Amino acid sequence: MKIAICPGSFDPITNGHLDIIERSAKLFDRIIVVVLTNTEKNTTFSLTERRDLIERCVSHIPNVEVDCFGGLLVDYAQKRGACALVKGLRAISDFEYEFQMALTNKILDPNIETLYMNTQSEYMYLSSSIVKQVAKLGGSIERFVPAEVHDIVCSRLKEGAK
Ligand code: ADP
Repeated sequence: MKIAICPGSFDPITNGHLDIIERSAKLFDRIIVVVLTNTEKNTTFSLTERRDLIERCVSHIPNVEVDCFGGLLVDYAQKRGACALVKGLRAISDFEYEFQMALTNKILDPNIETLYMNTQSEYMYLSSSIVKQVAKLGGSIERFVPAEVHDIVCSRLKEGAK
């Protein structure tokens, strides 16, 4: 059983995240999407909200589960028997940080591989923060977030912008 982890803050989940999750699910027996609680980012959505939004979007993929975690990712991977961390890469700007993380994790646990999956060109520009910015200013985020969560994300962001 090959298990991989897709970690992130998912604040909120976007079409770019979902694309990486769907493609990873074809390569591994099981994917665990892990919402990280120890992110330095100041999140807009609570942990429960972020997990709930992801769950709504992945219910059609049988080998994907969603969990939350706040410690060292390699500890979580060991506990769950995962052999890989899958990260999405949008641009060179993502690379430096991701490279540092991958090298550090490799020292912490040499058995866990970090794999990078290229974004699709249509999602290259997409990030959770741009989604929040557009929605707060009243723009349409229909093409940015999965249809299953569009209305919830929209109303939640408009509420927060008041
Ligand atoms: P963000 O940088 O949008 O706040 P997260 O920390 O939630 O994203 O990212 C979780 C993972 O998803 C990371 O590996 C990140 O590089 C990847 N990711 C985020 N947006 C995209 C996208 N548009 N295309 C591909 N991968 C992405």
